[in-house]
Amino acid sequence: MNRPRLTPLAESLPSTVPFVGPEASERQRGRGFVARLGANENVFGPSPKAIAAMKIAASEAWMYGDPENHDLRQALASHHGVDMDEVVVGEGIDALLGYLVRLYVGPGDAVVTSDGAYPTFNFHVAGFGGTITTVPFRDDKEDPVALLKAASETSAKLIYLANPDNPMGSHHAAPVIDDMIADLPVGCMLVLDEAYVELAPDGTAPLIDTTNPQVIRMRTFSKAYGLAGCRVAYAIGERDVIRGFDKVRNHFGVNRIAQAAALAALADTEWYETVRSEVSQARNRIAEIATDNGLTPLASATNFVTIDCARDAAFAKAVLAELMARDIFVRMPFAAPGNRCIRISCGTKADLDRFAAALPLALKAAANTV
Ligand SMILES: *Cc1c(COP(=O)(O)O)cnc(C)c1O
Repeated sequence: MNRPRLTPLAESLPSTVPFVGPEASERQRGRGFVARLGANENVFGPSPKAIAAMKIAASEAWMYGDPENHDLRQALASHHGVDMDEVVVGEGIDALLGYLVRLYVGPGDAVVTSDGAYPTFNFHVAGFGGTITTVPFRDDKEDPVALLKAASETSAKLIYLANPDNPMGSHHAAPVIDDMIADLPVGCMLVLDEAYVELAPDGTAPLIDTTNPQVIRMRTFSKAYGLAGCRVAYAIGERDVIRGFDKVRNHFGVNRIAQAAALAALADTEWYETVRSEVSQARNRIAEIATDNGLTPLASATNFVTIDCARDAAFAKAVLAELMARDIFVRMPFAAPGNRCIRISCGTKADLDRFAAALPLALKAAANTV
């Protein structure tokens, strides 16, 4: 055979895709969705000023983007009251997680996360040969005490925690996270994924402390800023931790249009407030629809609401399938006990009207199949 051999690590990896995109489902179904409520995208869209900036940047797209992301890092540093050497910009939190894992996790190194937490972290850990220990959610929240205990037992290099959490939408108040940070084992870093923090109640984000090399904060333009398709996010941390990313990151990874969009979006506080208000209204509406159907909406600090379908995973799966069959794209938590729920992203009024119309039918159909 002339075929080049994969590395033993690559050979051992499953070729599964962590997320099947809605486009793939549409192709498979041969039909589009009428409401896209499954990927926690921000249907209210980017700031009009970001759209204008992207139009200008589009005609300049013959030039590479600035590999140092200088202007965006400077704006982010000023926004957060940190130094620009304490900020790294990357092509989504997804990519930044990959770089972080590559920097800290080699074959056999231990990491800790929650069972059913955001799977992209695990995907990267597997890719670099790390060993994952999971702890269960507690009361539909990630459990800081259990995460710390597991980290200390396994001498973990990284603990992953999303606050607010996806897929449950729950959150911890800042003091809980501060206590967790104070108790981190020696040599262990907290990866604090704050993808939804802009949409959470005040007092969710701990103060940013860039003197501590044991904490890295990850934020994104994909959710509150409505730029998921641009792939742009950032991490804030201690300067040597941040400098480490230069060893492995794709220096031209964040394209010119994305940089321009993020810079304009960050400056548009008016649109940001509009989105927060739209999201809050949509959350209430989803909760209302759930209650009208005899289901329990979980409290949400994000742009989605997780709905407890009050039965087992098989039932929740059937409800999901029946919603998809009615052209409503939704997803659900994949691990127990969260998998008794379905997860509905905030939509426009029209999206949520379609969801409201489909849900009773889906529930009835699901009850007949399981
Ligand atoms: C959506 C989401 C992300 C993805 O962020 P990108 O910047 O789009 O890669 C990361 N973490 C969590 C918990 C998310 O829900």
